[in-house]
Amino acid sequence: MKILIVEDENDIAVPLKNSLEKKGFAVDVAPEGKSALESIRKNNYDCILLDLNLPEVDGLRVSQIIRKEKNTTPVIMLTARSQIYDKLEGFDSGADDYVTKPFDLPELIARINAVIKRNSLNKLLSLRFDNFELFPDRNLVKKYKGGKVIAEIELSNKETGILEYLLRNSKKIISTEELLEHVWDSEIDLFTDTLKTHIKTLRKKIDPNKNIILTIRGKGYRISSH
Ligand code: CA
Repeated sequence: MKILIVEDENDIAVPLKNSLEKKGFAVDVAPEGKSALESIRKNNYDCILLDLNLPEVDGLRVSQIIRKEKNTTPVIMLTARSQIYDKLEGFDSGADDYVTKPFDLPELIARINAVIKRNSLNKLLSLRFDNFELFPDRNLVKKYKGGKVIAEIELSNKETGILEYLLRNSKKIISTEELLEHVWDSEIDLFTDTLKTHIKTLRKKIDPNKNIILTIRGKGYRISSH
């Protein structure tokens, strides 16, 4: 298990690194947000311990950036007890958990193990809908009839991304903008026509009668709840 500690205070980072290494974790330390982002993009961490107060790019911002880049590595935010703890949860920071400083090491390790476990379960899970099952990690949809697989349908990355996002938010109407924001890279300038094309090919593959991916006129798309 590989962990990144993002912490500018050495007297916190160093003993924490040593303690976690004694428990068998591999540990990197980044002293500020920018180098943290570089490390996160280069390495595949199992968990990120992210100090809230960092010079320049702060912890909230780091967390928001990596989520925007579709990195799902679990983040535990480290905050001083005196900080705006209650307000934090109101932010859409993408953090999985919060721990206040000074922290109790066994408790922190328990939290680390909990978020890592949750994350690996999320990745494994397939998504059932109608008589289909989506395997997001394999870009694959299986179609069932009478409990048996009758077709295996391959999807592109984008089609998988669109379908996964709609399924994970199946109670909501998802606007075109929201889909573009979550499924496409943030740097790429996009047109709604691109999305329409992908929805069209996705429907052709799994939903030719258009009764699974519903178009809500003027609002966006929603997965049928029947
Ligand atoms: Ca700090």
